[in-house]
Amino acid sequence: MAISISIRGVRKTYKNVCALDDIDLDIKAGEFLTLLGPSGSGKTTLLMIIAGFIRPDCGSLRFGEEEMILTPPHRRNIGMVFQSYALFPHMNVAANVAYPLKLRGIAKEEIHRRVDDALKLVQLEGLGDRRSNELSGGQKQRVALARAIVFAPRILLMDEPLSALDKKLREQMQLELRQLHDTLGMTTVYVTHDQREALTMSDRIAVINNGALMQLDTPQRIYDYPVSAFTADFIGESILLPAQVRNGAISSCNNMVNATSKVPSDGEYYLLLRPERLQLLNKEAEDGYNVFTGTAKKSVYQGESILLYVTLTNGEQLRVRYNGTMHVSEGDNVYLGLLHEHVVLIARDSE
Ligand code: ADP
Ligand code: MG
Repeated sequence: MAISISIRGVRKTYKNVCALDDIDLDIKAGEFLTLLGPSGSGKTTLLMIIAGFIRPDCGSLRFGEEEMILTPPHRRNIGMVFQSYALFPHMNVAANVAYPLKLRGIAKEEIHRRVDDALKLVQLEGLGDRRSNELSGGQKQRVALARAIVFAPRILLMDEPLSALDKKLREQMQLELRQLHDTLGMTTVYVTHDQREALTMSDRIAVINNGALMQLDTPQRIYDYPVSAFTADFIGESILLPAQVRNGAISSCNNMVNATSKVPSDGEYYLLLRPERLQLLNKEAEDGYNVFTGTAKKSVYQGESILLYVTLTNGEQLRVRYNGTMHVSEGDNVYLGLLHEHVVLIARDSE
């Protein structure tokens, strides 16, 4: 059964390092929420506070209506998976998975049945007798996962569980983990520094930087409408052009910029451009587009697309992604179109 998690005013300092600064975060029952941020941003600290292995300096943590901050880890009914698999090397797969059930004093036949079910769920059916040193990285992580879910916890916490795997396997496991979550429906908090992984797996993403929560939203909204330069830069590829709003009109790089969204109050902003949101046009003006004029620099062949570097007439550098059907040579004049509905402004003081 899933349960909500409510974090209020949580702070944690280590000597002179502020690892978490006044975090408020509500995680819905049954949701797959990802803590995304660079290394050292405080993700593990927050996860360990939820698990009960780290006590915060202050703040509250509730599961449903119940305050948990003084509850020891083993009473929180949480399943955990770490980057290092933390399997018991002297036990076989079945014994590893059975361990949490043994701790809880469950009867032998019941343990047997539940271990089989858990191994089936992580696609390791019939491998119960294997020793853990006879397993591949992906299989070890599946065993760790089976061990984390075998006692039907209300909450599953995962700290960079796939980062030791190679890219192909990692992408496959991302889908499997998400599938497993959808089957079991437990509230899941997932930690990663990989923005693509976060976008792929999550119901919502909590972006964390320097111990602060920067933004909490769905993957699509975080990608389309980042509210800070940090988030824009950390998620996806972005170019931030200086922009101004004066008397309700937007300008950037000597261009007037039309937007379909509401224009924010007068001030200094960044205009967010993403290479795949810009379009190479073959003329200087086109309905529905803001057009930036520049000169083509080098292009980089990337298989599914070509990345072209462009210098605007005012000297700003841009990148545009396009497919191979157009031919652009270094030195050509190019017109880059940004749809009016793709105009996103980010406050300049938002870092
Ligand atoms: P992340 O998981 O996002 O990489 P952490 O939560 O591990 O970040 O760490 C956040 C900050 O707290 C970092 O600056 C880290 O160096 C510091 N930190 C973490 N654990 C300790 C500790 N036990 N003692 C001192 N500083 C720590
Ligand atoms: Mg960490």
